[in-house]
Order: sequence, then structure tokens, then C-alpha cells
Amino acid sequence: MSDERSPNPGSERADRNPWLVDTHELGRRPGASRSVKRDIPVTESLGVPEVVTVPAGAAIAVDLLLESVVEGVLVTGSASASTTGQCSRCLDPITGEVTIEVTELFAYPESTTDETTEEDEVSRVVDDRIDLEPVVRDALVLALPLVPLCSDDCAGLCSGCGVKWADLESGHGHETIDPRWAALVDRLQDTEDVSDAPSDRAGEGTDDSDR
Ligand SMILES: [Zn+2]
Ligand SMILES: [Zn+2]
Repeated sequence: MSDERSPNPGSERADRNPWLVDTHELGRRPGASRSVKRDIPVTESLGVPEVVTVPAGAAIAVDLLLESVVEGVLVTGSASASTTGQCSRCLDPITGEVTIEVTELFAYPESTTDETTEEDEVSRVVDDRIDLEPVVRDALVLALPLVPLCSDDCAGLCSGCGVKWADLESGHGHETIDPRWAALVDRLQDTEDVSDAPSDRAGEGTDDSDR
């Protein structure tokens, strides 16, 4: 089966790596263009674990236009992916979406751009192919929120007990009482407990004695 599909090893590699796009048909004719829309599976999660990531198993939807220009292939368009993470304030799990705009020139070999720039300065067309991965992946990672929130007004957690403020009654707090008063407060609470419960039982006792 693989014999039919791969007359040469290069095209097989392009089939397998969804980030590689063949630009051969643009034929270095300025003005020629083609669109590339594909969902690229994420094999290794992108981002900061425990904060926000594009998780492994998700897909990056790319929607790009490739245009042949004098110096190379100009790639414009967008890429988007769903994200998972946790709220930086209340630690609730959250999901979201990240979208980036792409504008990248991939220089043709031996073009002026190719010859006047360092290797890591500008992307290159290599063997008639462009590799979208570094460009899209880096931009997506940079676009992830540094401080993801479940909502802009998330109140976070009570520093006293670690419970979400959203789940606590209004007026919740952890007042620290002056130790000199603490003993008195304890005694008052004890008195309330004593006066509540046994008085009911005393009433029942009265009924019994009447019988
Ligand atoms: Zn939150
Ligand atoms: Zn609390």
C-alpha cells in the first residue's frame, strides 16, 4: 500500500507531517495562491501545565492563504485551538479558545531575503515545502493568557479557609479575637448551648410527671 502512495520518500513525509505544506504548485509565479485549511492534531500539549494549555489530543484549526511573492511564499490567515486550564484565583477548571493571526514570509532559496538574513531570522521554503509548525506553535503559546480567569470578576478564595468566595455566605470572615475576650466568648457560647437544649427536655419531663 505504501508503495503506491510514496513514489519518493519526500512526499511521504509531507503526507505524514500535517504541518508541512507543499508549495510546488505555486511554481514561483508571483501572484499565484492557494488556501490551506486543515485541523492539525496536537501531539504534545502547548503552554504551561496547571495554568493553561492547548492539550494533547486537541486540534489546531489553520485557515491560511499562501501567496507567491517575489521573495518567497507569504502566508497569511489565522489559527485557533481550544484551551484548558485553571482559574488563577479560584482554581476552578476552565476552558477557552485561543486564536492568532499569521503573517509570515517563507523566503525562497537564493532569494535576496534568503541571502541577506540569518538562518533563524526568517522562515525558509525548503524542498518546495514550508513548515508551519514553529510559526503557528510559537504564536499560539505567546497568545495564551498568563493569568487565566474563570471570569473577570472572580473573587478567588478566602485566605482564611480556602473556600471560594462565590460559595460563601456574605459576611463570611475569620475575625481573630483578642485572647482576653476569647474566654468570655467561649463562656457566652456555652451558656447559649446549655440554655437552648435542656429547657425543651425539662418541658417533656413536666408532661411525664403530670401523667
Ligand atoms: Zn475563578
Ligand atoms: Zn473563610
